[in-house]
Amino acid sequence: MNNKIVRMEETHPLTWRIRDDKKTIWIKEYCNKNGYNAFKKAIHQNTPEDIISLVKESGLKGRGGAGFSTGLKWSLMPNITNNQEHRYLLCNADEMEPGTYKDRLLIEYLPHQLIEGILLSAFAIKATRGYIFLRGEYVKGEHILRQAIQEAIHFGYIGCNILNSGFNFDLFLHTGAGRYICGEETALINSLEGRRANPRFKPPFPATFGLWGKPTCVNNVETLSNVPSIVLNGTNWYKKLSKSSDTGTKLMGFSGKVKNPGVWELPFGISAREILEDYALGMQSGLSLKAWQPGGAGTDFFTQKHLDLSMDFSTISQAGSRLGTALAMAVDNQINMVSLVHNIEKFFARESCGLCTPCRDGLPWIVKILHTLKNKKGQSNDIENLERLCISLSPGKTFCAHAPGAIAPLQSAIKYFRSEFENGIL
Ligand code: SF4
Repeated sequence: MNNKIVRMEETHPLTWRIRDDKKTIWIKEYCNKNGYNAFKKAIHQNTPEDIISLVKESGLKGRGGAGFSTGLKWSLMPNITNNQEHRYLLCNADEMEPGTYKDRLLIEYLPHQLIEGILLSAFAIKATRGYIFLRGEYVKGEHILRQAIQEAIHFGYIGCNILNSGFNFDLFLHTGAGRYICGEETALINSLEGRRANPRFKPPFPATFGLWGKPTCVNNVETLSNVPSIVLNGTNWYKKLSKSSDTGTKLMGFSGKVKNPGVWELPFGISAREILEDYALGMQSGLSLKAWQPGGAGTDFFTQKHLDLSMDFSTISQAGSRLGTALAMAVDNQINMVSLVHNIEKFFARESCGLCTPCRDGLPWIVKILHTLKNKKGQSNDIENLERLCISLSPGKTFCAHAPGAIAPLQSAIKYFRSEFENGIL
């Protein structure tokens, strides 16, 4: 977060409370800054159905990468048939996408905003228990969340009959053991149950058969952190924050050899060029932008000519990539694309859960070919073999989205920088 950007409650719902000294906002300060008022309003004045309708109407989409409507996802939870039935709200804080660190900032700076979002979401879907599934390496975040949960219990926001509303909710923190695939919601559920983190067959979907076979909803940290401001300020205000058809704001950023790498809360619809030039302050001296990925290692590369695209889900997807996490990565002119893609594919091959053959065997094969091309010992049919492997790892050919995400940077690198691959052939 850049101190020089003026963040206001009216325009920066996610980040306006952040202190300039970057210290964690604990519960008293959070309450002094309008904190927990949305939750108090909801449990005393609204029904769960009201909150679902409000969030649906706000247009909030999941910020974990898929961009699915949050209100719609909540409305897929079945009706309660048995008053004793447990249902779960899971917060996906397993942020392992290379180049992405937006959820970590929300956790470390504003843990109570996240907890309030969890409480509102749990109230909406009538969940009685929640788990935050936190990336294990986020040790500082773990300490902060544990303390924040204790504070929320102490202040009466978590527990039985919360604020005399009749709503009961317990919240637990679970740290993952460090696997990328745990970010996939059904693998996350398996991991939480103590099983190997393989994605599950769908259907049944988690809404009907999730954690320990009970109705379960999984939402990302940034998604949940949006909910308090929507409940407090309404949908019209939220929609007007954006410059595009995607509503609200988004944490977006640029990393790589830019002058001012970082993450900022920005309206949907801002162009990538504005983020690069006005916030990241352009490329470092002597370097030029060769390519960029819009939102994480598993998104297709773009080139300079895509910089004026609006940063929103549909525009980026129509142009051939994915908004993903919206934390863009800049590739400068000194980087060889084969070498870069080799590095990315090594990561994805290592993180394959091994459940299905094309992903388990195909990704290491890709790594092997890229290794020979990188060392200029490739064979004449290597590029064709890479393209064939990409087809066998495309959407619908594997069990989850890991493999299609893994080949996105490879396919786009071949498309835009084919000569660099050809240069690797003996
Ligand atoms: S695509 Fe890869 S990560 Fe996904 S289930 Fe298959 S082997 Fe596992």
